[in-house]
Amino acid sequence: MPNLNSTSGPRVIERSQHGIERRQVSPNACKVIERLQQGGFLAYIVGGGVRDLLLGQQPKDFDVATDATPEQVRGLFRNARLIGRRFRLAHVRFGREIIEVATFRGEGDDGEEDSGLREVESGGRVLRDNVFGSEAEDARRRDFTINALMYDPTSETIRDHVDGFQDVVDRRLRLIGDPVGRYREDPVRLLRAVRFQTKLNLAIEPETAGPMVSMAPLLGDIPPARLFDEILKLFLSGHAWSTYQGLVRAALWEQLFPKLFADPANPPALVRQAMMNTDERVAEGKPVTPGFLFAAFLWPRVRQSAENLIAKGQPPVDALAQAGEDAIASQARRVAIHRRYSVMSKEIWCMQPRFENRRGKRAYRLMNERRFRAAYDFLLLRVLEDPDLEELAQWWTDFQEVNGEQRETMARSAMGGSGDGAGSGRKRRRRRRPRKRPASA
Ligand code: ATP
Ligand code: MG
Repeated sequence: MPNLNSTSGPRVIERSQHGIERRQVSPNACKVIERLQQGGFLAYIVGGGVRDLLLGQQPKDFDVATDATPEQVRGLFRNARLIGRRFRLAHVRFGREIIEVATFRGEGDDGEEDSGLREVESGGRVLRDNVFGSEAEDARRRDFTINALMYDPTSETIRDHVDGFQDVVDRRLRLIGDPVGRYREDPVRLLRAVRFQTKLNLAIEPETAGPMVSMAPLLGDIPPARLFDEILKLFLSGHAWSTYQGLVRAALWEQLFPKLFADPANPPALVRQAMMNTDERVAEGKPVTPGFLFAAFLWPRVRQSAENLIAKGQPPVDALAQAGEDAIASQARRVAIHRRYSVMSKEIWCMQPRFENRRGKRAYRLMNERRFRAAYDFLLLRVLEDPDLEELAQWWTDFQEVNGEQRETMARSAMGGSGDGAGSGRKRRRRRRPRKRPASA
């Protein structure tokens, strides 16, 4: 067991042992720490920044923890602003970089400072606003040992209150304290466990892994908005597919996206490929959007209900719009999907039948739509579940690649071309504009 007795003091790890060099840390974060230390305060780089450097990853940001109060921090920096409702933090701004400076917190505080959720959840519970703690307490209230290391750029030492350094060396993910209690205190830690395991390629220590499956239902108590934020981190950091598999193994996927796939361990090919494509794009530094991923996750359900509606006589685009609306509404009970992303998912779905109408100006019009590229990528995925779409997808691939003249020819000949979709296109067209033929006919 790690020694959690605060009186014993931290283990201090020298530079020769930990290997982090000061120049790997943001110069602005170092400046903040220097100024705080010169003011007589303790100050360290904490959390993910230290962890990622030790594990050879590029940190996203460098957070600072200090024993100065937020007001004292503001007193030291002209470029500081206090934020947060329940637990106030200082943001020190240097051009585009913001260094977050938090005052050491006491135990039991679990990092929901900005969400205001604690007030809602608390019921009769005493709110512990701005309960500051010692350095050791601040380390112990963090989630995993590897997230609790404190780096002092001045002495170039790491201060370890929770035996986290050895866990880094052994590449082990371990909750600080009693895992059952820590998961109960904040079930989002279940998701964080899977996220760090996959992103950092760590083994979850047995006592930390043991209760995960049985505690997964606790996620049901987490507000959908908080889950949404967590899901973005889970699926857009370049490891969507392995994260997905980890979530399924820990019974967490069903908590987040219930009843979407018959067998979550074997998700539909389209869903799996959507995650793999997302990971590939992240690896290539291309932008990724949750709207596309949600479109894929919900597609099996959307497709099924749209087919039912079409069988009852609804036009395909309307059927997809309605099926999409329903799927998003029922998903929103678990995970709030921001509107701009759900709108994008709907656009992607509703454009699918339109790919079948390639005649004349329609192809051009579709290609100029804002979501064309995402919808086209989605069409490519659909070939995986519907090989008959191969020819259509190829046509659209060619249509984008050829020169203007060839494109004209393609649009013209598509009119009389292959049977798929041309029929439904004519039908919809007639409803809107009787008689008139496309100009290019
Ligand atoms: P990432 O690189 O993904 O941002 P991170 O570890 O920095 O990972 P953050 O969510 O930015 O994660 O949190 C910063 C730090 O705050 C963590 O390293 C951890 O020490 C602490 N923390 C965050 N969430 C929790 C939580 N739910 N319970 C306890 N401590 C937490
Ligand atoms: Mg972070």
